[in-house]
Amino acid sequence: MLIAGAGMAGLVAAVRARELGLEPIVIEKGTRVGGSMLLSSGVVWRHREWAAFRKECPGGDEQLQRLVWERLDDALAWLVSLGAEPVAQDTGNPRTTGKRFDPRALTELLAARVDVRLGARLDAAAEPPVVLATGGFGRRLAEERGLMLRANAWSSGDGLDWALARGASLSAGMGEFFGRAMPARPARVREEDFVRLAQLYGHDARVLTEDGRDVTPRRVAWHENDLAQLIGPSAWYVVERTNERIEAARVAGGRVVARDDGRLAVHVTAGVTHTIGGLRVDERARVVGLDGVWAAGVDAGGIATGGYASGLAQALVLGLAAAEDAAS
Ligand SMILES: Cc1cc2nc3c(=O)[nH]c(=O)nc-3n(C[C@H](O)[C@H](O)[C@H](O)COP(=O)(O)OP(=O)(O)OC[C@H]3O[C@@H](n4cnc5c(N)ncnc54)[C@H](O)[C@@H]3O)c2cc1C
Repeated sequence: MLIAGAGMAGLVAAVRARELGLEPIVIEKGTRVGGSMLLSSGVVWRHREWAAFRKECPGGDEQLQRLVWERLDDALAWLVSLGAEPVAQDTGNPRTTGKRFDPRALTELLAARVDVRLGARLDAAAEPPVVLATGGFGRRLAEERGLMLRANAWSSGDGLDWALARGASLSAGMGEFFGRAMPARPARVREEDFVRLAQLYGHDARVLTEDGRDVTPRRVAWHENDLAQLIGPSAWYVVERTNERIEAARVAGGRVVARDDGRLAVHVTAGVTHTIGGLRVDERARVVGLDGVWAAGVDAGGIATGGYASGLAQALVLGLAAAEDAAS
């Protein structure tokens, strides 16, 4: 079995497949393992209440949401049983439950259990059985819309294209992404700054377009993903006073302007962390319409549609489901 992609989803699928007696071959297009997990905050979570998950991601496939919601706690226990040591036993957010891991340690723990061929990419000639775990099409979406990419640099829709060429179908929400407001150019945002430089105070800001129109929504969601969708390539956050994140943006070379009314305007752009739409899969991570093909992580779509849910949880649960179905 071929596993394309060595991010959280691909590594989890590979480790679990080996546990179950398979001998997967893992290929990774990039120069390192870990994908976006390596750059992440490492919080693997679910909504605490089922009803809240449904309410916050109303366009998502209910069966897949239930899979993630019901399986995550066991999946986390599986990670811990491998030797993963959480750096926090909860998320610190009363709306959610989960664990936080050190991203590098988690990547190393998983990668140590499988061989990965670096610099090897899924190509058109690959044949099933295949687990697609190439991380969605964040790079392509960011380039098409003139947004910043706030993710590993290699996820440009290869798994999606491969499956579509074979007749796969798509989930809902193909235009949606999970993202964060980031300091706009000329700010210098390196990948190690993706977490620190997120401009995550939008609920206290007025949002202005480039031509000064006030487009502040009446209500901003706690995760502010709605603002990331709204601001597009560039907008201004106008706030009463500075904060740590604004100062970090300023130090990175971002534009922070003192206005005549005494307030501050911060130039922001949407940074795409991962796509929300993707391949349509069933609750065993099988790509609908294709035999012997699974999609895990954010190659699979339609779970967080209309809102925000944990990409790491989706990668963990679907990675396990794909391996278990492949081995059954
Ligand atoms: C800054 C940041 C902070 C985040 N914080 C959190 C958090 O705290 N909690 C949370 O739940 N989520 C978080 N996320 C999101 C989370 O990291 C991702 O949703 C998750 O890691 C996606 O995993 P994946 O395996 O599906 O995809 P990826 O991590 O993108 O892995 C896909 C892999 O496939 C490779 N690949 C691409 N194309 C090919 C190809 N053709 N052939 C072979 N390999 C290929 C890529 O190089 C990559 O290594 C964060 C992300 C970022 C960037």
